[in-house]
This record gives sequence, structure tokens and C-alpha cells, in this order.
Amino acid sequence: MNADIRHSIVIPVYNEEAVIDQSYRRLKKVMDSTKESYEMIFVNDGSCDHTTAMIKGFREQDDAVKLITFSRNFGHQIAITAGMDYALGAAVIVIDADLQDPPELILEMIAKWKEGFDVVYAKRTKRKGETFFKKQTARLFYRILKASSDLEIPTDSGDFRLLDRRVCEELKRLPEKTRYVRGLVSWVGFRQTAVEYERDGRLAGETKYPLKKMIKLSLDGLTSFSFQPIKIASYAGGVLICWGSISLAGMLLLKLSTAAIIAGWNLVIAMQLVLTGILLTMMGIIGEYIGRIYDEARDRPLYIVSECYGMKKEEIKCK
Ligand code: UDP
Ligand code: MG
Repeated sequence: MNADIRHSIVIPVYNEEAVIDQSYRRLKKVMDSTKESYEMIFVNDGSCDHTTAMIKGFREQDDAVKLITFSRNFGHQIAITAGMDYALGAAVIVIDADLQDPPELILEMIAKWKEGFDVVYAKRTKRKGETFFKKQTARLFYRILKASSDLEIPTDSGDFRLLDRRVCEELKRLPEKTRYVRGLVSWVGFRQTAVEYERDGRLAGETKYPLKKMIKLSLDGLTSFSFQPIKIASYAGGVLICWGSISLAGMLLLKLSTAAIIAGWNLVIAMQLVLTGILLTMMGIIGEYIGRIYDEARDRPLYIVSECYGMKKEEIKCK
């Protein structure tokens, strides 16, 4: 660890040419006001617009700016992980590049950290500028995760947070490939607290989290921190056995006590559809876990760095 650097700001960026300039300026203003040393690590997650060139431009006038570029798009969570791997500060602060997370809140986070907290996460009391669908699905997801996991993962907070060096070191020891960073931070423990804020809309540009990536992040979160989905199979199995046995007993009773003819083919087909549906869904859920086990077993590096500037660990190309 480099004792000279007090704060490391980790900023994952993916095609953010529309906002990166303003983000950099606002962040710099906030960090300069702390009068403490800092570094700004931009993790360029395979951008194919002018983002990389713009960051290199910042670097020409500002030594605090550092850059890691991935060889392709590896995803937001991996970009955060890489930033933490390279960060040298006593406190590491992760923030999005689109100014949805107000940089000014960092000062409040630092104050809490100085009070002795090891993790200070930002909790959203309101989300502006996002679609009704995104807000509701996010809300629902956080609640499902909370209900199904034994771990206390804070609701309504993303990856905008401050981590003490020792939390960062512990996170670096976790080898898993499926990285749901906010869950991992909860798992690590230590003294954690929240600061509340209203989340603004994106300053410019489009979200880099389309539905497909959101679903993947949710499934990563659920499968990494809960076995409940896989247990649904046993519950559903139990319910179906009871249902089938009662139906059979009823039909037998009807057959023995009356002369009624049971024309049940349509019932049989309906039940067949329900059962096949349940079976396929369960196979899918099991598949989600097996796929992730396969990912771990292959043990590929989490990311590949194609270029990096300003890092002590420039020789490290991948983890
Ligand atoms: N991001 C990234 N890689 C990706 C997707 C997003 O590094 O594959 C970055 C993005 O540039 C931004 C942050 O992660 O700094 C959050 O993304 P975004 O604002 O698009 O997500 P949203 O706020 O819409 O959920
Ligand atoms: Mg955003």
C-alpha cells in the first residue's frame, strides 16, 4: 500500500464520452476540497467511443488520473473489482461515471469513515430520471434478495460506496468469478453504515445497463447469496405430490361410490402442461447454478487489461 495516497476513486466507464468530462471536473472539485491526496482510477470497460482518448487528455494535465483499459467489455462489476485491485488509497470510493451518484456525497462518506466506519454505502431514498419499470423491478429485486438470503444485504443501495483499505484487502481474497460486489461487501462485514441521497437522472448518454445486463446482475446476486430458488423445487414437488394424491383419491372414491364416467383427458393435458412447465423452470434454475459452478471450475482470469497508465502494478495485465 502506498501511504501517500489517502483516497482512491474508482470510476467504471463504458462509452461515457457524453458525461466523462463533467464527471471528471465535478469529482476533481470535490476531491481537491478535501485537501488530502487522492487518485482517480478510471476503469475503461472496453469503450469504443472517445472515452479512452478523453481520459488520456485529463491525464496530461493531472497526475491523479489513472487509467486501466480492458481488452473488451467485461461488465460493470468486474470493472469495479479491477479498480479495487489497483487502488492504493487508505479509503477506496466507487462511483458511477454518469453523475447519477453525486460526487459531493463523498465528503459525507469520508466524514463517516473518519468516525471509524469501514464501509459507508449510499442508500437511495429516491430515484429520478429512471423508467417506472426500472424503479419497480429494482425495488422488487432488492426485496426478494433480502427475503431469500441469510446475509443482511442493504436494500436500495448500489455500488456507490466507500471501503476502508482492510475491507478492500479482504475483498481481494475472495476468488469467485460471479461478482455481485455489493453482496460481497456485506459478506465481508466490519462496521458498515449508510448515508442517504436522492439519485439524480443520468446527466447525458444512455444507460449501459439494458434489461439483459440487469437480469444477469439480479441472477448473479440471487445465486451467489441464496439457495432459496433451488429449494423451490422441493417445495413445488411436495405440493404436487399432495395435489396428485388427493385428486387420485377423489377419483377413486367417485368411481366406487357413483356410476359417473370421468372424462378426464382435458384435465390430464392441463396438468401435463403445468407439470412440464414447472419441471423446465426448475431445470433452468438448477442450470443457472451449474453454469456458475462451471465458470468457477474453468478458473479463467476475471479480466484482461490491454493498457494501463499511472499504475504501480503496470506489469500486471490480468487477474
Ligand atoms: N458500466 C461499465 N460496464 C458496463 C456497463 C456499465 O463499466 O458493461 C459503467 C457505466 O459507464 C457507469 C456505471 O457502470 O459508469 C453504471 O452504468 P449505468 O449508469 O449505465 O447503469 P444504470 O445507472 O443505468 O443502472
Ligand atoms: Mg447510471
